[in-house]
Amino acid sequence: MTTKKKFKLKQEAEKKIKVIGIVLGILLLIFIFYRSNINDLKQLGYSEKAANNILLKFKKKEIIMLGKNKTLNRAFESEDYLEKNFTSYSKIKYQNQKNIIKNINKLLKKGYSNDEISLILSRGNDKDVSEFAKRDKIRYLEEFFSVSYSKLKYYDRYVEYMNNSREDEETSVLYVNLDLDKEDYQEPKQVNEFSYTMLVNKHHRVDREFIPRDLKVIDTDYASEKGMKANATAIAQAKKMIDDAKKDDKHIIINSAYRSFDDQEEIVDTYQNLYGDSYIEKYVLKPGYSEHQTGLGIDFGSTDTNIFIESDEYEWMEDNCYKYGFIHRFKTKYEDITEIKNEAWHYRYVGKEVAKYIYENDITLEEYYVQFIEK
Ligand SMILES: [Zn+2]
Repeated sequence: MTTKKKFKLKQEAEKKIKVIGIVLGILLLIFIFYRSNINDLKQLGYSEKAANNILLKFKKKEIIMLGKNKTLNRAFESEDYLEKNFTSYSKIKYQNQKNIIKNINKLLKKGYSNDEISLILSRGNDKDVSEFAKRDKIRYLEEFFSVSYSKLKYYDRYVEYMNNSREDEETSVLYVNLDLDKEDYQEPKQVNEFSYTMLVNKHHRVDREFIPRDLKVIDTDYASEKGMKANATAIAQAKKMIDDAKKDDKHIIINSAYRSFDDQEEIVDTYQNLYGDSYIEKYVLKPGYSEHQTGLGIDFGSTDTNIFIESDEYEWMEDNCYKYGFIHRFKTKYEDITEIKNEAWHYRYVGKEVAKYIYENDITLEEYYVQFIEK
């Protein structure tokens, strides 16, 4: 090979290397530019996947203007993303639900507004919303679902209850959430966990094995019988209440406290033999449905009289029991909700804070439960 030829080859190789270098340089610049864009979006709160799709769909400018938005993040992560719904995604309030974007698309197609869809998403879980998205557009959306504890899955029951009872929307939601549109003892909700705000009534039952937390024997000084038991905290507060009442010359005593499933069964049998079925239906709770099985229901009496409702002790308790965490559980005015006639003697320990709220707002434990406890 001649020197000239060698030189030419060398020149060509250098040229090639140059071109490759330039191409690599450009690619590197593009990559740096792309990464910096991704990082801008990630800094705003978007995921890598969402950020990628935002760039692919040329939406970066709009996203930067809108800022952090969880619904949009999910939309760009999702295969269900529809360009025509972009503005809606940006306005609908986010809920952590698997099919949120798919459901938003469906609900928009049915003609719901962005605000209505935000409301719908907030009133159920992913499954509830997915079911709801299948049905035709409903008539009374705001009416029922503006109630904070309303549930999507109960919509038909709300409508039916309102039509039958002629009650307003809020009342219909309350009653249906409490299963008051069902027969007593039919399809009860099973209560498994002990808590001071647990609800046990004709629609919420504990099973035979349920035992309250910290079950303790009550000192005989405070009870009309030996061996009575209740939850330790409830006992401590009851004792304090009885002591304080004594200072006001009021003489309160505990007449009944914890009753096991078997105890309640025995009571039912006894009364059934004495007075028959209709008496039981009216006055005795079936086993599993009595608050006494929670260790938190306590019957108080006066040592001065047998008619507690006419006693000074009753009056004193009406004004003061909430300070010790107790509520007067069954009153005539609450009967529609509690489904139990006035029981002057029956009190329920719920804790001081809750008792104060219930007392000041003059509501039932059922209403408190629906608003603050039940999910
Ligand atoms: Zn009782």
